[in-house]
Amino acid sequence: MTFLTHSLRLLSILAVALVTSGLTAAADEKRPPNILYIMTDDHAAHAIGAYGGRFADLDPTPTIDRLAAEGMRFTNAFCINSICTPSRATILTGQYCHVHGNRAFAPGLGREHQHLPRLIKEAGYETAVVGKWHLLQEPEVFDYYCVLPGQGSYFNPIFRVRGPDPWPENTIRVAGYDSVHSSDAITDIALRWLRNRQQKDKPFFLLYHFKAPHDNFENAERYDWLFECQEMPEPDSLWERGNHGPAGRPRYGTSIGRRNERRNMGHHMFVDPDLDDQEYQRVAYQRYMKKYFRCVRGVDDNIARVLDYLEKSGELDRTAIVYTSDQGFMLGEHDYIDKRWMYEESMRMPLIVRWPGVVEPGSTCAAIVNNVDFAPTLLTMASAEVPEFMQGRSFLPLLRGEPEPDDWPKATYYRYWLHMTHHDVPAHYGIRTHDFKLIFFYGLPLDVRNALAEPTEPYWELYDLRHDPREMNNVYTDPSYAQVATELKEQLLHLKARIGDNDEQYPDLMEVRREHWD
Ligand code: CA
Repeated sequence: MTFLTHSLRLLSILAVALVTSGLTAAADEKRPPNILYIMTDDHAAHAIGAYGGRFADLDPTPTIDRLAAEGMRFTNAFCINSICTPSRATILTGQYCHVHGNRAFAPGLGREHQHLPRLIKEAGYETAVVGKWHLLQEPEVFDYYCVLPGQGSYFNPIFRVRGPDPWPENTIRVAGYDSVHSSDAITDIALRWLRNRQQKDKPFFLLYHFKAPHDNFENAERYDWLFECQEMPEPDSLWERGNHGPAGRPRYGTSIGRRNERRNMGHHMFVDPDLDDQEYQRVAYQRYMKKYFRCVRGVDDNIARVLDYLEKSGELDRTAIVYTSDQGFMLGEHDYIDKRWMYEESMRMPLIVRWPGVVEPGSTCAAIVNNVDFAPTLLTMASAEVPEFMQGRSFLPLLRGEPEPDDWPKATYYRYWLHMTHHDVPAHYGIRTHDFKLIFFYGLPLDVRNALAEPTEPYWELYDLRHDPREMNNVYTDPSYAQVATELKEQLLHLKARIGDNDEQYPDLMEVRREHWD
């Protein structure tokens, strides 16, 4: 080989290398991000340090706080029905409950309705769901799944698995994790999938879903003493009800103390029945909060393991990370536990997005978004089209830091259907704007499976959130709010008409409306 041919060959190799690396860089620029969607079950926003509030000093969530510090925190993200299955179905379809049909726990979501994972996969992603699923059918559309059946167990969880890891594709089997807490097992499974991905040329879309901190709260043993010597701060409304809710209201909502004889947190926490009412309530609250926050910390520590893996594998900065929970939770406010209510602590979802290069670190967004918007947003993050049948709107422009568009929704709709079942909450619907919340407790089971047949007395609540963010003063009957109430009712009906949630199909409801609307 002459010097000249050798040099020429070297030059051509160099040229090819340069072109190839240029192409790779260009391809990388075009490549949409990995999407890690982390969702817990019943983790209220006010149980996250970054959201402030009375628990922030306990430092309950250092890792989630890191996501907020490096990303965007939404302060007005809401669910449209604060209960597990409906929220999950809404997130996977971009539709309201009366459209996807999951007003409560049925009919689930068959393959043909698993729109979000199908469309993301068609956009060129490798897809997986790990952890809680809580929809009746298998998550068939995903490339890989490993999910808890139903609610699943906190300890020794079993999973339904399908995927090439390392078993033949398309066989469904059951895998058990002995002596492991579900948050640890779900994270082990997520990490194993990330490590052994079959299609590493593609970006990933991973739904990483915890069971925690859903009740009954069971933490991993290593958290048994966490917060043991701390006094969990009480909300004033644990004791002082003000003018919240309807007068009397003896039978509504599972309570902390003895108010609800049928079901209260003292029962759940095995509080000594010989204690006087006040002490019973105080002890029940302390036990409740400690158990809840031990489960929360278990989630937070596990998320840290995944961030650590992404960092070490070089994927962290090309991954968009979403942190949310399927809805909020009452942590003793108004002497309530659980969700279901349209009250702030229950309908608000935590929503944090870390996405380097797109989302401004440490930013917040106060625009009103809801979980119907999640699927459209995730699709546009993946550079995919949003189909017409989705009812939400992508908030990608807000993530990019663009100002809220003039025509962005100024209100969100809410409806709880499962009348008086489990936690004695009457069926209701309403509207929340930036300033007000109007709720109509129509109190009927309608055609919802498992709803309690007996109607409850209809009533209205109106809160002025500008002066009363904790909803202590129902101003519905205050004459100075009559005009506000009338306008909100009009807005509510417009909103119902726009999304197609019409009352006309329910004669009983129309009858209640005729008697109680004005
Ligand atoms: Ca839930």
